[in-house]
Amino acid sequence: MKSLWKPNEVKKIQADLLALRVYTSQLLGRESDLVLQGGGNTSVKIKMKDDFGDEQDILFVKGSGWDLATIEKPGFAPVKLEALKRMAEFDHLTDRDMVRMQRAAMLNPNAPNPSVEAILHAIIPFRFVDHTHADAVVAVSNTKDGEKRIKEIYGKRVLIVPYVMPGFILAKKIYEMTKSLDWSSIEGIVLLQHGIFTFNDEAKDSYQTMIRLVDQAEKYLKKKGAVFSVPRTVESKIDYKVLAHIRKVVSQAAKASMLAKCECADGRLIFSRRKNLREVAGRGPLTPDHVIRTKRIPVVIKDDPAGDVAKFTREYQKYFKKYARDEKPLDPSPRWAVWPEVGTICFGRTFQEVEIVSDISLHTIRAIESAERLGGWNALSEKDIFEMEYWDLEQAKLKKVGLAPAFLGKIVLVTGAASGIGRACVEIFRSQGAVVSALDLNPSVKTIFADKAILPICCDVTKISDLQKAVELTVSRFGGLDVVVSNAGTFPSSEHIAQMRMETWEKSLTVNLNSHQQLLKETIPYLSLGIDPSVIVVGSKNVPAPGPGASAYSVAKAGLTQLARIAALELAPLGIRVNVVHPNAVFDTGIWTKDVLAKRAKAYGMSVDDYKISNLLKVVISAKDVAELIAVMAGTVFLKTTGAQIPIDGGNDRVI
Ligand code: ZN
Repeated sequence: MKSLWKPNEVKKIQADLLALRVYTSQLLGRESDLVLQGGGNTSVKIKMKDDFGDEQDILFVKGSGWDLATIEKPGFAPVKLEALKRMAEFDHLTDRDMVRMQRAAMLNPNAPNPSVEAILHAIIPFRFVDHTHADAVVAVSNTKDGEKRIKEIYGKRVLIVPYVMPGFILAKKIYEMTKSLDWSSIEGIVLLQHGIFTFNDEAKDSYQTMIRLVDQAEKYLKKKGAVFSVPRTVESKIDYKVLAHIRKVVSQAAKASMLAKCECADGRLIFSRRKNLREVAGRGPLTPDHVIRTKRIPVVIKDDPAGDVAKFTREYQKYFKKYARDEKPLDPSPRWAVWPEVGTICFGRTFQEVEIVSDISLHTIRAIESAERLGGWNALSEKDIFEMEYWDLEQAKLKKVGLAPAFLGKIVLVTGAASGIGRACVEIFRSQGAVVSALDLNPSVKTIFADKAILPICCDVTKISDLQKAVELTVSRFGGLDVVVSNAGTFPSSEHIAQMRMETWEKSLTVNLNSHQQLLKETIPYLSLGIDPSVIVVGSKNVPAPGPGASAYSVAKAGLTQLARIAALELAPLGIRVNVVHPNAVFDTGIWTKDVLAKRAKAYGMSVDDYKISNLLKVVISAKDVAELIAVMAGTVFLKTTGAQIPIDGGNDRVI
């Protein structure tokens, strides 16, 4: 562990204590071996005048919901120090009273709720207080003789506190333990199976003491041969259909669509090969606050994913019954899985959730591997974990307001995604909560979408190998496939049958018909494992109302429509809906350059503006309009409809 403190970075903020606090908090947050995903907290005590001009001692402590890596000044809640110190004197304090009293003692009622450790920060008599869940310290303490080893590393330089529930109980315990303590005799506090505190009147010294103490724990692991080193790249063979099946059974257990990300690198594969995997993975998490993200333990997948997940949920329900008083049960499905000979799978409703679980599971695996080399992984008891999992103040971190978006947890694949209707579909589905695989021949697809929940894939849909790869990439990144928008197309130049070049004809059929057939073929095995799976085929008004000079296009689209109708018949028994949308005159797409638009309008003897609305309703139809209809057709409104063809053309007398 190395200090990231840079003297030139603090030159300008030397005199601003809160700015210094922001700076070293971010330094801690930058190091994932110190804090993970909102973990840890920091504070600074500052003398300042309140609104009446009276001088007050204020504790600026990390606000709930802020992450140390990205925290800024507004992320610190200003609480009157005196009030917090007096709260530590109570014998008992309920969570509700603690939160209420802390809020009442805040200088700014609009600031976030103070960290659950605010009282503890207040009673530590130094200006700066830093708290992390450093992997190395927790790994050492999460062993059978963890306390002895912590003493071996630090001697009397740290106060060792056996595990108790964070919040008031922990603050109270330390308050009692330190009543007659000479604070200058210790450099930090190690909370067994939880983390470490350091403190100093100087920001730099508090931070650097943290780094030094953690470094000592890391060196200890090294000396004992307990560091888990893994080769950089590992390839394992993923059976994508089994992965999609696992994602399906986990979603069913959660009663909600979940995403699933399968990973093998960084030691995940090695961990999955452990002889005592089931037993060691079943002992518990790295630190208790991870439980709200990862559940207490992962599910271990063997040969029967449905059976393994069912067993996991049964055991979770048993665990709930055993420790619950009047809590409401959370969904019993796992948040991560260990898949022997493959690696891990992390689950979540959003891609961000999946990434959080992925991050935590990796650090957990490393800590377990270290602890196993150091006498054995010894996590907190089930009961302690339960208390944390069902602690209101922890669950509050996950609470979301409002309705869940329609496609939350859904996996959508769109072809022709770099422009026009395809691009609009990617944006609409994403805005409604889905993750999306965006396929396009145009390499620009790689740079259009700056969103981790959109997977851009450069893909020639007329090449079977490209399609296969794209579908597998989608499944390995997101865990399955629920919606396919079969949209890629080309609009050939106008040629009458008598003059039709074979090349024009064949290209249209290859792109506008054959590639869709191949895409269907590749995706059906995954759609059959999807959640409310559906296929939307982008047809054309030319199917019901063809025009001269467009046979190459219209015949391909008519064939495509017939393909979709047969697919609706064939796939109904698998629960897969297949519907067709027939757009017309969507001018904000790649095909319709200004030039083409002007020429076509002229051919009909109209102005461009009139040409754009040459339909019964006299409306302009945009790519976004079509994408919105497609999203509706892929959603619950169309749950009982298959084989339908819906026009979106502003009304056309030839179609009607
Ligand atoms: Zn903590």
